[in-house]
Amino acid sequence: MNKLVLNSESLNNVLENKTISRQDVIGIYQQAKNDPEELFSTAQNLREKFKKNTVTFSKKAFFNVVNLCKDTCSYCTYKAEPGEEKLSLMSKQQISELLQLAKKYKCVEALFVTGEQPEKKYDEAKVWLKENGFNSTVEYLIHASELALETGLFPHTNAGNLNFEEMKELKKTNVSMGIMLENISERLTEKGMPHYLAASKRPKTRLEILENSGKLKIPMTTGILVGIGETMEEIIDSILAIKQLHQKYGNIQEVILQNFQPKQDTIMKNTPSTDEKYFKTVVALSRIIMPEMNIQIPPNLSPKSYQSFLSVGINDWGGISPLTPDFVNPEFSWPEINKVDEDSKKAGFELKCRFPIYPEFFSFISKELRDKIAVMEDVEGLVKEEYWK
Ligand code: SF4
Repeated sequence: MNKLVLNSESLNNVLENKTISRQDVIGIYQQAKNDPEELFSTAQNLREKFKKNTVTFSKKAFFNVVNLCKDTCSYCTYKAEPGEEKLSLMSKQQISELLQLAKKYKCVEALFVTGEQPEKKYDEAKVWLKENGFNSTVEYLIHASELALETGLFPHTNAGNLNFEEMKELKKTNVSMGIMLENISERLTEKGMPHYLAASKRPKTRLEILENSGKLKIPMTTGILVGIGETMEEIIDSILAIKQLHQKYGNIQEVILQNFQPKQDTIMKNTPSTDEKYFKTVVALSRIIMPEMNIQIPPNLSPKSYQSFLSVGINDWGGISPLTPDFVNPEFSWPEINKVDEDSKKAGFELKCRFPIYPEFFSFISKELRDKIAVMEDVEGLVKEEYWK
């Protein structure tokens, strides 16, 4: 690796593994606004140092278990109302069938997603649970996760704000779990801001859930939504908050950086998509704040340029499904895995399939789950090609 010679003292410190302060990061950002090249090349250098030339993804099926949600975020198009065509209330039969299909397609991950506590607000959700024999959405998720394991898939649940006990139960079957921090700024919860009608997105609440995941030693995926009206300082504070959690508990396995895309039927429909240069700056800053972290952008949300993010610090594409849509961003279909493979190669990287848990976190899960992974893993702890290709 060539030694970088930089004008920025703070960036040189980063390369020398020295800790930098919030003020240093803000200074780096101020500089990068005019000329991001030093920041980008530092991020690339760190990425190469810690992640080599591999870029990973998780081959998944997206289970839109229930998309009724008690909250309303200004950008969300996932949430459905009763009677809407997009309403999803998956029956046990539908879950079993999709699991079988996912196995046939050689998916590795079963991603279970729900809206926020649907049964707290909607009778339809209560009826649906009763019909399927459950008292709560979490009970249903536990059952679905058990079924996934029986079928040979690894569950990863993202069901919003779960409490300590619920997460503890789900840890038995889920190799990892996810909840986006989104942003640590209280300002974004004020009137007229995107999280005003979303009590579940209060930064304190989200941080508490991430704290609980740390106490429970759950390999956790979290991340930031970029471009929803935040300032760069608020982004930096959010990344620093994630870093702090990871320093305390060591359980943050990856950080998703998701660029906002406006959706037609939402309050934020006229807000422009996240500017690409701004987004790349966020990616690069994340890499310099957390040099060893797994950093992901979803390729479907930057369809024309996703591979260019490899040179500003990312090392993962997240879940890509060969058979189900991205129900959170349905107008952005996932690229074909072959295409991602090709584009990654062209950029000088090798695409590899990972489990929904990164190898560094294998020691966090039960022996039973670990044994199931062992059957399918290669020498690097990634999925053997015969199981996904
Ligand atoms: S983003 Fe999540 S919490 Fe917000 S409205 Fe959509 S489903 Fe509900």
